[in-house]
Amino acid sequence: MNTPLTKAPLEDTPICYLNGEFTPLKDAKVSVLDRGFIFADGIYEVIPAFAGKTFRIEQHLKRLQDNLTAIKIENPYSITQWRAIFNDLIVKNNYSNTDCSVYLQVTRGVAKRDHIFPSNPTATIFAMVNPLPAANPETLAKGLSVIIRDDIRWQYCNIKSISLLGNIILKQEAAEHNADEAILVRDGNVTEGAVSNIFIVKDGVIKTPVKDKKLLPGITRDLIIEIAAQHGLACQETNITKDELLNADEVWLSSSTKEVSPVCFIENKAVADGTPGPHWAKMYQFFQEYKDSLKQ
Ligand code: PLP
Repeated sequence: MNTPLTKAPLEDTPICYLNGEFTPLKDAKVSVLDRGFIFADGIYEVIPAFAGKTFRIEQHLKRLQDNLTAIKIENPYSITQWRAIFNDLIVKNNYSNTDCSVYLQVTRGVAKRDHIFPSNPTATIFAMVNPLPAANPETLAKGLSVIIRDDIRWQYCNIKSISLLGNIILKQEAAEHNADEAILVRDGNVTEGAVSNIFIVKDGVIKTPVKDKKLLPGITRDLIIEIAAQHGLACQETNITKDELLNADEVWLSSSTKEVSPVCFIENKAVADGTPGPHWAKMYQFFQEYKDSLKQ
């Protein structure tokens, strides 16, 4: 006789972290007066974890601190405490041997609705984990397709704000055009994607926009620059015009959950010959080698 399944499938029993407690996601509740709900007054992080180990955690926690400082929320926990919460979440959700991403959100907490910050706020801290499937080789071989749009977002895109209305409108527009991402242009220069950073390759040089308030300082972006330096690949942080994007030999997108992906079509026109380029293939391989080196 078959042994009946005693454990519900993972997706039925996710455990999240909310304000000091681990609780089933379906039971987690936040007040309607939370400033995250009322004003989108908060920031977030997304941290990949491979085989149970958080990836580039120091960099993610540094960005978390920078974001909290930028919006004047006191960091509620030490680095050690954050790491313990993430590790507990990974273990409790059975991701010790597979890949997942940790989503973390910190808001200014519950208060009477008033634009002015409350005088003694208690931050609301929420974290959950989601599965992180490996990139589909067929999708990578085909490459991504993108549209180009004006960057309609606010002027502090360096802050990982939970106010993502601009981003979701742009990403939705991409989806409605059967595209994977919207590449954004402000004042004639490419900034980033709606959910990713951007790289181009021209005449053997990898280029990515300079980090300023117009784009998110992506953890994956910085890692790609680091890997390029380690392997002696020419890489520049520089302005990229829309024309340069359209005439690039290669275009890549980067993010924590998608790593580094080749873009093969922009507004339905092929990038170079419409297949992933050799520099991307190298970077992809170096990136996987870097991940593997951390597993040992
Ligand atoms: N830019 C935007 C607007 C994003 O939303 C993201 C990730 O979600 C990125 C860039 C990539 O950042 P990271 O590599 O830290 O995931």
